[in-house]
Amino acid sequence: MLAHVSKVLHWSAVDGPGNRLVLFLQGCNFACAGCHNPHTIRLCNDCGDCVPACPHAALSLVGGRIAFDPALCDECDLCLRACLISASPMTRQMSVDDVLDLLRASRGFLTGITISGGEATMQAKFVEALFAAMAADADLAGLSRFIDSNGHLGPRGWQRLLPLTDGAMLDIKAFDPATHQRLTGMSNAKSLASARLLQEAGKLYELRYLMVPGFTDTEPEIEALAAFARELGPGLRLKLNAFQHHGVQGAARDWPKMPRQGVEAAAARLRAAGIDNVVIPSVWI
Ligand code: SF4
Ligand code: SF4
Repeated sequence: MLAHVSKVLHWSAVDGPGNRLVLFLQGCNFACAGCHNPHTIRLCNDCGDCVPACPHAALSLVGGRIAFDPALCDECDLCLRACLISASPMTRQMSVDDVLDLLRASRGFLTGITISGGEATMQAKFVEALFAAMAADADLAGLSRFIDSNGHLGPRGWQRLLPLTDGAMLDIKAFDPATHQRLTGMSNAKSLASARLLQEAGKLYELRYLMVPGFTDTEPEIEALAAFARELGPGLRLKLNAFQHHGVQGAARDWPKMPRQGVEAAAARLRAAGIDNVVIPSVWI
């Protein structure tokens, strides 16, 4: 079984607890207007339009398929800007054994692995196979296994993954259904249900909420967030993120950045509403 992988981050301290290897899978079932990694949304269709954009000849078409030579790439990202369908020519296919080898190479320095995206659960069968292989491996069984998700996975999918998963970070993009639809192109019903399911299973490590000025920093949205966090119960770790322009494309580039004061004010309101564990960004750009 192979996964479409957008990127591997060998060390991360912000994708779950401790020091983690992060596997970013390619492909997402949301199309968020404010996505910071829009090139992870779609799978490449081998059209070749990005090949001339590469100044280092790292891209070519071979037998009608895009070919990428990482040795020639200087990570300028010009090919990503040339792609009209939010895909990337720099993805690679990895097997479960490929990922196990990466984990073994850094085993002594790692707390665990996080599968992110794109949307990790769009390749749930691979995630399940990888986590099962880790759990069965004497050297790797001690690494924690986390998923970063938009929550658009049904209960049957979670029931397969959760026995092998130590924790999940789950994003709620908006509470008002129309706002969520506008921001992501999808309904929020499955994401809200997933948050409840994960919390009930004791696997919701962190609920994440992206504050976007004029969309999700409004009075009703913060009220709805407080009510939902209270419903999920005590001990919830609630992370507020602030919309910034890094990586975004299209109309979202004209949206204002979320100011620090707005996030701090929302955090204060949530704490006053009884949500104890509210986390805000530690770095502001
Ligand atoms: S990454 Fe985009 S532009 Fe490049 S070959 Fe794939 S679909 Fe075409
Ligand atoms: S990121 Fe790499 S492959 Fe893409 S255009 Fe730049 S050098 Fe070429």
